[in-house]
Amino acid sequence: MNERELLMIPGPIEFDPAVIRAMTVHLPGHMAPDFIQVFGRALDGLKQVFLAPEDSQPFVVAGSGTLAMDMAAANLIEPGDRALVVNTGFFSDRFAAICARYGATVDQLTAELGDVVPMEQIADSLARHKYKLVTVTHVDTSTGVRMDVSELGRIARQNGALSVVDGVCATAGEEFRQAGWDIDIYLTASQKAVGVPPGLALLVASRQALEAFQARKTPVANYYADWANWLPIMQAYQARRPSYFATPAVNLVAALDVSVGQILAEGMEARFRRHQVISDAFKAAITALELKQVPVRPEIAANTLTAIYYPDGVDAGLLGRIRKHGVVVAGGLHPRIRDRYFRVGHMGVVSASDVLATVGAIERALAESGYALKEGDGLAAAQSILTAL
Ligand SMILES: *Cc1c(COP(=O)(O)O)cnc(C)c1O
Repeated sequence: MNERELLMIPGPIEFDPAVIRAMTVHLPGHMAPDFIQVFGRALDGLKQVFLAPEDSQPFVVAGSGTLAMDMAAANLIEPGDRALVVNTGFFSDRFAAICARYGATVDQLTAELGDVVPMEQIADSLARHKYKLVTVTHVDTSTGVRMDVSELGRIARQNGALSVVDGVCATAGEEFRQAGWDIDIYLTASQKAVGVPPGLALLVASRQALEAFQARKTPVANYYADWANWLPIMQAYQARRPSYFATPAVNLVAALDVSVGQILAEGMEARFRRHQVISDAFKAAITALELKQVPVRPEIAANTLTAIYYPDGVDAGLLGRIRKHGVVVAGGLHPRIRDRYFRVGHMGVVSASDVLATVGAIERALAESGYALKEGDGLAAAQSILTAL
């Protein structure tokens, strides 16, 4: 790997040097007073990043985003419960499989490729059956589509269901207000917009979600993910007391503490806005180059990544050419169009210069692929918007 390559994929992302340095600091162990402070602060900070209610409970556990999904389903679902999965693509399929694994009867509302499921349709389904929970993928990493979840929590509560939002490709980049929007579970992983190397599952549960867990009649069918094991540990670290269930990833937690500090120093509102401007600028460049995006309408396109169809005559060979110009972008993920599009992540520490470098590399690679364009059109379109930063 060329260390001067710019990583512009939808996770893992580029990391701030201070976050990486935090991982190399000597930590005596998970019971050491210094580490207890670090973990406690990271947990408190995470609630602020999620704009979560005061009485919500954060969980930080070694694992990836899939573990966070697993943890939500394992702790909330009992065999025979009904779950509604709003399906926008690849990771919604995964959530449906996870819910089924814990014994739920799973109904799915599946969006057209590149589209969202309208909230009225979700409300309709929730009113028709008694669901234990509804899951939504906030930003669908396979299509670049963002679901507006601002009404989801209220609608779910009105119908006696818990709302679970997979924010793995959104959290700390897209606007999200767990308290204001009454969302019961918001979950993510360290390596996406939170800006920490892979290895931590991050989740904040509402009081209502914890009550549903406490009211279970059957034990959680996953030993490692069981909140009965983790709740006392998280509460101990929040109270700045040592505790042990399974060894935390101390170096990653130290990195999380630094990254959360940086995120809160920028401020959530400023951070949401920066992601919006960066995304608008990049998408303006893509449009200026006359490339088509996977989301079927601009207003449902995510701010954290862009999914772009290859133009006629260009194939996945484009990715290697972009890389020769120093920028790494990602191939397709959605099984139905995997070879027809590519994805560019722009979240976390991403800057205006990163956008320009990426657009420049894409323009040159397109020209080398035989695509007729005027080099510089994309850059000019991006520049005109980036001045807002
Ligand atoms: C990346 C991603 C996941 C899976 O996260 P892992 O850390 O790879 O397990 C789940 N959901 C979404 C929306 C993602 O983008």
